[in-house]
Amino acid sequence: MSAIEKDLSWHSKAANLKTDVKPLIAGKRISSLSDVHIERVNPATDASGLKIQVCSAEEVDIAVSAANSAYQVWSTLPLMQRKMILGKLAELVMQNHEELALMDCIEVGKPISSALMEVQIAAAFFSYYAEAVDKLYGRTAPSDSDSIEIQKHMPRGVVAALTPWNFPVINVALKVAPSLAAGNTVILKPSEYSVLSALRIAELALEAGIPEGVLNVVTGAAETGNALVQHKDINMLTFTGSTNTGKRIMQSIGASTIKPMLLECGGNNPQLLFADMLDSDIQGLIMGILQSAMMNQGQVCVARSRLLVEERVFDKVADAIRDACQHLQPSDPLLSETNFGPLANRMQYDKVVQAIGEAKNAELIVDGRTAPRPDRGFYCGPTIFHDMTGQSSISKEEIFGPVLSITPFKDEQGAIQLANDTNYGLAATVWTKDLSRGHRLPQLLNAGWVAVNASTKQSMGAGIAHSHEPYGQSGFGVEGGMTGLESYCRLQTTSITHG
Ligand code: ADP
Repeated sequence: MSAIEKDLSWHSKAANLKTDVKPLIAGKRISSLSDVHIERVNPATDASGLKIQVCSAEEVDIAVSAANSAYQVWSTLPLMQRKMILGKLAELVMQNHEELALMDCIEVGKPISSALMEVQIAAAFFSYYAEAVDKLYGRTAPSDSDSIEIQKHMPRGVVAALTPWNFPVINVALKVAPSLAAGNTVILKPSEYSVLSALRIAELALEAGIPEGVLNVVTGAAETGNALVQHKDINMLTFTGSTNTGKRIMQSIGASTIKPMLLECGGNNPQLLFADMLDSDIQGLIMGILQSAMMNQGQVCVARSRLLVEERVFDKVADAIRDACQHLQPSDPLLSETNFGPLANRMQYDKVVQAIGEAKNAELIVDGRTAPRPDRGFYCGPTIFHDMTGQSSISKEEIFGPVLSITPFKDEQGAIQLANDTNYGLAATVWTKDLSRGHRLPQLLNAGWVAVNASTKQSMGAGIAHSHEPYGQSGFGVEGGMTGLESYCRLQTTSITHG
């Protein structure tokens, strides 16, 4: 099939996509009890789009009861069966990857090539945690000869998962897969901007053999989320989103119930570039830097949006980055060659454009607001600022858009100081050829995940088994890998004294 035919087919597949937005509770799609809806538009065209049901507290209650009843079944199922069902779900996600990718494409404007790759990563998470079901060992504590102390990982009960719109399928998999693998039941509330793939994954879970009520999806925005947060029969909350929402959730929980939380919030992540990297393959390096900052149009909490460059190569690097921006041109997400789509929704577009317009103490070098782009839709191209002190609003705030600030540093100490000059601490990248610096620096950086000589894309591909925990205002709790699975378990000790 030629590229043109392929693109025509993406458009026609998108036009024929079944888009059932009804919540899925206790194994069934339900029509909402309330007639409150959220009207959405397609970010790539600004045309009116889906109408999302807002689940009421009453509907949340029904979902919680269903998850509670199903917990008895799911948590006691033989491990081999739990493992096989989750493995089957991973297969079904892959078998339906085009459909799931198109869903994210039409809802949040994700370029189809990225969306397809993200579904593969989501399937890999399901498959990883399916395999992990029977590999989570407990411990035997040291004890006297007349007793034995056994520590076991038990499920927590009903988990509420609140996910954002930036990586719909990956965020669902990252939370749902370990929750289910640990034996919990789940109520998922995806962002009001991205419901389709979450609902479809829950349908595929039923097809894979997950009992009704084990994975429920309610739809809605803050109010629906808050009904979950405050519900007394929910045993754990796992959230990814903004720091402000994370704070609100902590207050809300504190005022209502006690439940363990896993919060992955915002970031304002640095990449530190040392001059030794410029000895070879500058083109690859520059694309890696841009990729780290602009992936998903910069709408990713681990976007490395502050580039700190060793002073003596600042001009050279800044020029190369400005030139390379022309390879990232915003265009139609349904074209297979598109590598830069629109921003995911009008709210985000307005926020980004406003932050660019109001930037103080920084020089605008590439203005994404005027980049060549489709006539309609929420497009903003790569935007570059020179910020000579690292103190501009563009460097200090999390923009969550395709905006990179570039700041020079004198020496290693200066670089670390600038890098850590933030309340956040999700991620960082160190670009250096010096092996000992590559080992030394990560320990000095306040970040949960430090990549050395790798763009975000490459690091993600390098393995999905890594675990990390945020620092500072970026949240807390481990996600990913086997340690991430333990987050969804509670440790129970059995002490047996021999008669
Ligand atoms: P983002 O802008 O990255 O989606 P948000 O923090 O706004 O981040 O939202 C993340 C998730 O939390 C979404 O599912 C959203 O609907 C939900 N949410 C937003 N506000 C609240 C709230 N006050 N209580 C509970 N959930 C919320």
